[in-house]
Amino acid sequence: MKKFRCPVCGYKGLTRRPYDYSMRGSDEICNCCGTQHQFTRSTAALEQQRATWMIKGNPIFKSSLYPAHYMDEHGQITKTQLIRQFNAIGMNAEICLEDVLMISSP
Ligand SMILES: [Zn+2]
Repeated sequence: MKKFRCPVCGYKGLTRRPYDYSMRGSDEICNCCGTQHQFTRSTAALEQQRATWMIKGNPIFKSSLYPAHYMDEHGQITKTQLIRQFNAIGMNAEICLEDVLMISSP
């Protein structure tokens, strides 16, 4: 079955294309970051969603449906896998993390 990549976390686990060409969502929830791809979204909204997920420490939304070999012993996404996912959507994980730290610092 063809899988689609989440534009928020980069995990390729969606069964439907998350957004159509007018950015209307499929309603599907990503098992990795938990984003429900609903309504009409903008790129800025997706970036905000990604920042929120990173501030929380990248929790895996549904670990029972996420590949075990991408998780560490605490059930967290491994850094290697996070970097891989971010690279796949053209994001630099290190830069994203720096941005998040800037946003979240007072
Ligand atoms: Zn996701």
